[in-house]
Amino acid sequence: MPQLGTESNPLRVAVIGSGPAAFYAVEHFFKQKGMVAQVDMFDRLPTPYGLVRGGVAPDHQKIKSVTKVFEQTASNPCFRFYGNVEIGKDVSVEELKDGYHQILFSTGAQTDRRMGIPGEDLPGSHPATEFVAWYNGHPDYRDKQFDLSQERVAVVGVGNVAIDVARILCLTPAELAATDIADYALEALSHSQVKEVYLLGRRGPVQAAFTNPEIKEVGEMEDADVLTLPDEVKLDDLSRAELEVGKDRATQKKVDILQSYAARPPSGKSRKLIIRFLVSPVELVGDAAGKITNMRLVKNELYATETGTLSARPTGQYEDLPVGMVFRSVGYRGVPVPGVPFNDRWGVILNQKGRVVDAGGQPVTGLYASGWIKRGPSGVIGTNKPDSVETVVCMLEDVAAGATLQPAHPDAAAMEAMVRERQPDAVSFADWLKLDALETANGKALNRPRVKFTSVAEMLAALGR
Ligand code: NAP
Repeated sequence: MPQLGTESNPLRVAVIGSGPAAFYAVEHFFKQKGMVAQVDMFDRLPTPYGLVRGGVAPDHQKIKSVTKVFEQTASNPCFRFYGNVEIGKDVSVEELKDGYHQILFSTGAQTDRRMGIPGEDLPGSHPATEFVAWYNGHPDYRDKQFDLSQERVAVVGVGNVAIDVARILCLTPAELAATDIADYALEALSHSQVKEVYLLGRRGPVQAAFTNPEIKEVGEMEDADVLTLPDEVKLDDLSRAELEVGKDRATQKKVDILQSYAARPPSGKSRKLIIRFLVSPVELVGDAAGKITNMRLVKNELYATETGTLSARPTGQYEDLPVGMVFRSVGYRGVPVPGVPFNDRWGVILNQKGRVVDAGGQPVTGLYASGWIKRGPSGVIGTNKPDSVETVVCMLEDVAAGATLQPAHPDAAAMEAMVRERQPDAVSFADWLKLDALETANGKALNRPRVKFTSVAEMLAALGR
């Protein structure tokens, strides 16, 4: 058998998922001189790009321009995209092992973490991840209902996702219309009655997870005032010490911004975003019909844990916050891939530097992970580049060491035939480029960046299927 990774015996790699972690990995493969790799990328949606399409806020168009780089990667003749093909349903992992030397899981974090409090499942309490997927036109979430007739809404958590959700609830119809938000979401939000949005942090301003551009941005909304409470943004001794020791200018800046919001009188805009700290929801209370009317909060204080991090503990002082809708934005969570070792506590595939390992820490030949399913839901899009490179370096080391799967049919045409037989509506990258051009053209007519197709049927119809 000729050496693996040559013209006559190309390395065959399957990548599951098509978000940034997937594309950065492929980019690194294609950069290798003297290595011929054929990469097939699978996504259960007809559209690529994962959270760049379905997660990044619609008013953050600049962040989405990273797809230009992914498009370039996809133009390599050794790349194939199989959209609308679900691994585990249309094609099994075992079947992939028959066609590829290596399989990379870049499946992200497809579900959310829970708060674990009574009332969490009352109607009107939603994972922020679902609202995000809804306003971004994810086909699985387009039919979700959010009761925007409520005047007061709470968003639990103070990460960038929480900020995105709060901001989308506060923007005007004109601000939203300038984005690529799903058209049904634009319509629903245009009639929104929401007047007050509460963003709830369990720790203090120093520990807030959102980043400075995002917290600054909410101070510039057209028709929503942002405010913080002076007592809650005043630093306690522990936080002051933490800031002093870290000499962290970005965090100091964040605190300055939050304190400036406490000093700034509301200017009479129609909506208010109120950012609270040192409070935790302990219960969601419903009316006779079970609809949320109230959120019970406990006031927290900070204490230093054994590792030195500052954690929140309840003081025993309670408060009732009347709200009619709640979004929990306390982090995403990965879901297991059947047959692939999983760390349930962390919600990630068991791995070392991206090599999938079994419970005993031994590498599972041929299986790899990158992105959120590898390291958990943290970091910005760019964080996935070094993360994926680390995984691909391991994959290349394993090729050199001969530690790959030994597929019986490492053949692109055979795989193509099987996929098309299982899923006749598989979508190629050329198909996606057609959908992309149509969405952009439909947007142009309305002065919007794009108008998204939001159902698989619509996408297939647009492709003439
Ligand atoms: P995140 O940054 O990890 O924030 C999660 C938030 O939930 C934290 O404030 C956390 O507080 C809080 N939390 C966790 N459990 C809680 C509980 N039981 N009760 C109350 N609060 C709780 O996660 P994320 O917002 O989902 O974002 C995921 C990643 O995507 C992040 O790296 C984020 O920066 C990135 N992202 C970036 C952008 C952007 O660049 N514009 C936009 C969206 C997302 P503690 O700190 O106290 O645990």
